[in-house]
Amino acid sequence: MNVFSHPEFDHHEAIHFCHDEASGLRAIIAVHNTNLGPALGGCRMWPYASDEEALRDVLRLSKGMTYKSALANLPLGGGKSVIIGDPRQHKSEALLRAMGRFLEQLGGHYIAAEDSGTSVQDLKVMALETDHVAGVQTRPGLLGGTGSGDPSPATAYGTFIGLKAAVKHKLGRDDLTGLRVAVQGVGNVGFRLARHLHDAGAKLWVSDIYPEQLQRAKAELGAVIVDSNEIIDLDVDVYAPCALGAVINDDSIERLRAPIVAGAANNQLAEARHGQILTDRGVLYAPDFVINAGGIIDVCYERQGYDADRVRSHVEQIGPTLSEIFARAEREQLATALIANQLAEERFRL
Ligand code: NAD
Repeated sequence: MNVFSHPEFDHHEAIHFCHDEASGLRAIIAVHNTNLGPALGGCRMWPYASDEEALRDVLRLSKGMTYKSALANLPLGGGKSVIIGDPRQHKSEALLRAMGRFLEQLGGHYIAAEDSGTSVQDLKVMALETDHVAGVQTRPGLLGGTGSGDPSPATAYGTFIGLKAAVKHKLGRDDLTGLRVAVQGVGNVGFRLARHLHDAGAKLWVSDIYPEQLQRAKAELGAVIVDSNEIIDLDVDVYAPCALGAVINDDSIERLRAPIVAGAANNQLAEARHGQILTDRGVLYAPDFVINAGGIIDVCYERQGYDADRVRSHVEQIGPTLSEIFARAEREQLATALIANQLAEERFRL
C-alpha cells in the first residue's frame, strides 16, 4: 500500500494507523493541514473492503475538511478518521474507548466529530477518554435546534443563506416570493431548508423516499410532492439537492432545467468535470462544501463557548463567500468549485 505516493496524499501532515488488540479497533486518522488550527473532522465507521479503500477515503475526506473550514473562515484545519468495521456488528464500548485513547495521544492535533456509522452517543463514549471530540455538548439550540449537538439547523440555515446569494447573483433578486425551488430529500437539513424557503415566500416541490417526510412537507409547507426520479426534470428556478451525492452526473446534467443548483448534499458533482459543464451551460452551482458549512461552524463554536447569535452571524458569512466565488468564476468562466478551491488555498497555504 503506497502512502507518500498515494494519489490522494496531497501533502498530508500526518497519517496515524491505530490498532488496539483487545477491542479489535483498526482505525486511520489523517491530518491534512493544520495551518489555520487543529484538524477537525468526522470519525466514520464503515466496513471497508480493504485497508487501501479505507486509506483512500480518509485521505480524500480529510483534505476536503481543510478546504471547507478555510472557506468557512474557521480557525480549524482539516482531518478525518475512519474506523474499519461494520458499525452494527463491530462497535463496542471498548472499541470506542480505544479510539478515544488514540485521540488523546494526538493531544488535540485532531478533533473528532460524528459521521456516517458513528453517533453523538458514540462520541460521548470516546469523550470518556479524551476532550478531543466535538459535537457532544448540550447547549442552547440554534434556530429551533434541539441543542443536543445536532448541526442540521445550522446547516439548513447556511444553505438557505447560500441559496439566496445564488439567486441574487443569477436572477438579480433579493425577494424570494414565488421563487420555484425543488428540494430533493426532506430529512434533517432538507426539511428545515424548505421551511426557511416557505417562510420567505418560495413555492416548493419535494421528493423523498419516505412518504411521511413528504406528507409533512405537503401539510406544513404546502409543497408539491414529486417522484424521486423526476425532480431533476422540473422547470424550476433552483434545484436543491439535500439527499444523496453524485446527483450532477452525465445523465442528470442533460435533464437539469433549473439555472441554479444550491443544496446541502455532500459531493454533488459525480466528477469535477461536471462543475465545468454546468458553467459552460450557464448553470450556477453553489459548491457543496461552501454552502453546507453551517454544521461545522456550529460544531466549532461549541468548543469555543456557544453563543447562538455569534453562530448565526458567522453562518451568514456563507453568503458573501459564495458571492465572491460566483463573481470570480464568472469573470474567469471557470467552475465555481474550482474557484472555491483556489480561494481556500489562498487562505490555508501560508
Ligand atoms: P437525512 O438522512 O436526515 O436526510 C436525507 C433525506 O433524503 C432523507 O429523508 C431520505 O429519505 C432522503 N432520500 C434518500 N434517498 C433519496 C432519494 N433518492 N431521493 C430523494 N430523497 C432521498 O440527512 P441530512 O442530515 O438531512 O443530510 C442531507 C445531506 O446533507 C447529506 O448529503 C449530508 O451528507 C449533507 N450534510 C448534512 C449536514 C448536517 O448538518 N446534517 C452537514 C453537511 C452536509
